[in-house]
Amino acid sequence: FAPWADATSKPFISFKNVTKRFGDFTAVDDLSLNIYHREFFALLGASGCGKSTLLRMLAGFEQPTAGEIVLDGTDMAGTPPYRRPVNMMFQSYALFPHMTVEKNIAFGLRQDGMQKDEIGERVLQMLKMVKLEKFASRKPNQLSGGQRQRVALARSLAKRPKVLLLDEPLGALDKKLREETQFELMDLQQNLGLTFVVVTHDQEEAMTMADRIAVMSHGKVIQVATPAEIYEAPNSRFVADFIGDVNIFDGKVTAAAAGTVEIAADGGMMVKVASSDTPSVGSAAGFAIRPEKLKVTRTPPANPGVNAASGELWDIAYLGDMTVFHIKLKSGKVVKASLLNAQRAVEDPFTYDQEVWISFAEDAGVLLKD
Ligand code: ATP
Repeated sequence: FAPWADATSKPFISFKNVTKRFGDFTAVDDLSLNIYHREFFALLGASGCGKSTLLRMLAGFEQPTAGEIVLDGTDMAGTPPYRRPVNMMFQSYALFPHMTVEKNIAFGLRQDGMQKDEIGERVLQMLKMVKLEKFASRKPNQLSGGQRQRVALARSLAKRPKVLLLDEPLGALDKKLREETQFELMDLQQNLGLTFVVVTHDQEEAMTMADRIAVMSHGKVIQVATPAEIYEAPNSRFVADFIGDVNIFDGKVTAAAAGTVEIAADGGMMVKVASSDTPSVGSAAGFAIRPEKLKVTRTPPANPGVNAASGELWDIAYLGDMTVFHIKLKSGKVVKASLLNAQRAVEDPFTYDQEVWISFAEDAGVLLKD
């Protein structure tokens, strides 16, 4: 299931050149984006990048200053929020404190004039879905944070929207509960066959849950791709730096041909990186490599002149599953390398201040053109 990879599939939600200005401030800047039916889609970005504004425009709480939002084949301009086949779950959950769980879930259905029996049935179904049957007659203040979150989820799904919008849905939960709930949300989304659009500033959350992620900055989408693509093949310095840990080397292109680009990187390291781009010789370029892609050895690699540098072990952090090394290269640059402890040889006892080598394969990192 990957409709975005098929050029013939029709998007379910389309933002077409959407701009939103508040006064002279541009919160969303000429943004175009497609989301597909049954996709779990994440809008990821730092605070203020415009992701909530985008979600609110889809819900109909804000109107675009320019551009078009098409949902399931219909241009949404002029359609009020309650007439859109979407529902929004807020971080604050916005539960009614004086109403029981049951009444909270039933609220929207009643407003829609649904028959009483049918409401009862639907509410029960929703309670079962979020495993809260036993809590039906409690008030929100008699529930834990995780339970409240589930009530909010049940309430937002009770009307069976085609699209559920979630604004930082797990922000109020502690780490362990957040992780559990991520998997519950994924299960639910798959079982119900709905389209979920989640706003988060938490990259791990986006990586865990989403089929695809749009990384946003200053009202623009910088990259849209699967979590693996975003991590393995960031399209820019911003994305490489924003997602996960990374080492970035700056330099100048010294050669570019036949799928390989050579860079004279800062600190005098010669980098050869696999790339389909052919930037011009002499242009500025960067090279990004994840800590786990750096090989750390105590002896020089076979070809120490290319994709290798030596330095001093500056810091060693044992993290259980892996060990993270900070290595101060001869150039003074400090790089981060990580090794899975399960893969470490016992006879490899790294110690502080030791001289070590880093080395890497041509396809272990990516060329940064910006
Ligand atoms: P956060 O994670 O902090 O909510 P965000 O990426 O969701 O951030 P938005 O809430 O979309 O960001 O806001 C984007 C920018 O637009 C912010 O700088 C915000 O101050 C501004 N903004 C949002 N709503 C309004 C408004 N009603 N009036 C004026 N400025 C607004």
